[in-house]
Amino acid sequence: MSPDGTSRSQGRQVQILGDGCAALSLAARAAELPDHEITLVRPAGAPAAAEHIWGFWGGAGLEAATRLARASWASWVIATETDKVVMTSTARPYFALRRSDWTTYCRGRAAAAGVVMLDETLATGAGIEPAIQPGIQQFDSRPPPVPQGMMLQHFIGLEVRAPTPVFDPQTAILMDFRVDQSHGMHFVYLLPFSPTEALVESTLFSPETLAEEDYLAAIRDYLARHYGVSEFETLHRERGVIPLGQLKRRDPAIEGIGGNGGAIRPSSGYAFIFIQRQIDNAIREAGATGRLAVTSPHKGIDLAMDAVLLTVLRHWPETAPELFLRMGKALTGDEFVRFLNGEADWGLRLKVVMAMPKLPFLRGALRLVTNGRQAKHARAA
Ligand SMILES: Cc1cc2nc3c(=O)[nH]c(=O)nc-3n(C[C@H](O)[C@H](O)[C@H](O)COP(=O)(O)OP(=O)(O)OC[C@H]3O[C@@H](n4cnc5c(N)ncnc54)[C@H](O)[C@@H]3O)c2cc1C
Repeated sequence: MSPDGTSRSQGRQVQILGDGCAALSLAARAAELPDHEITLVRPAGAPAAAEHIWGFWGGAGLEAATRLARASWASWVIATETDKVVMTSTARPYFALRRSDWTTYCRGRAAAAGVVMLDETLATGAGIEPAIQPGIQQFDSRPPPVPQGMMLQHFIGLEVRAPTPVFDPQTAILMDFRVDQSHGMHFVYLLPFSPTEALVESTLFSPETLAEEDYLAAIRDYLARHYGVSEFETLHRERGVIPLGQLKRRDPAIEGIGGNGGAIRPSSGYAFIFIQRQIDNAIREAGATGRLAVTSPHKGIDLAMDAVLLTVLRHWPETAPELFLRMGKALTGDEFVRFLNGEADWGLRLKVVMAMPKLPFLRGALRLVTNGRQAKHARAA
């Protein structure tokens, strides 16, 4: 039934809970699902959408996102206290896309294709219960619960305007480890939009978030130390806490999509590209079988390698700068993109393994196996 109570044409009824990246990216492609009637529900309890940038490497199927992107860079850097590597890919540049530009585009496409959008946050009374409704296929994109002690990617980013031209708009800074490493793996991510404007994020991979002032102090110190910028204007602020690891769905009875459907890459926190891939696969499956099937966009081997890397980063974070630097030096820009985007073949995976120092990874793998056994015994006891 449509919101005005009239009957819609008979197709498979699909209801998506949430109106974030995954929900809207799927709704935007409703025209490719002619046999489906899609309803998108902004759920009760949903927080106000906060603006931020999605960074991702371009590739097939991402044409709409790359067209809408605010900026792109064919070169990016990984830097440590003693060394740095510049990687380049003209075929697969790195893009920055504003969240609002993508969601506005998706809403427009969804509306044009007849997707019904309900806003539960405006409803009075009980509202729509996210319970299984007979005959309706539901997808839940609300974030899954994050277990205590899980590895997190946590950051605060400031979009800054410097008083003088100091940034190099040709090169994005993917990871600059020349910041305090005492709270875990910590780097600055800097997207230079112009010689005077950049998004500068203080980013950590660790189980504990920091006080807001710690991230801000790291950004201030970094800009002063490496760009001679001690005064700057803050144009925008963004903050994120992204769980790194495999998560249980928010509601086991409802199919998950997006972060709630395993789309976040555990070793990097990147999700935008994987959400698009998850949706591509689901639409392809619907074309073949008639039913949207949302599955993990990651390969088992990539998840296994990510689990070892995360174990290393959790227990031996001091090895992180060297690990990422080595990876950057061993791979071409295109290979680096393929590896991070989950497009690696066995040859490329082997190249990454060979580039890594062996001892931390052997210790990491051993620790993972030991922890797994202990958890199994604890469950059995
Ligand atoms: C600040 C920030 C920057 C990021 N940058 C990048 C990046 O550069 N590249 C990248 O690939 N990934 C990035 N990510 C990770 C990932 O891409 C995003 O989190 C992405 O939005 C995940 O999509 P999603 O649809 O799963 O979740 P969301 O887009 O977060 O959508 C979740 C939906 O659930 C609703 N919801 C949330 N909480 C509740 C609640 N308590 N009750 C009811 N409803 C709720 C929301 O309103 C929304 O409708 C970033 C994440 C953040 C937070």
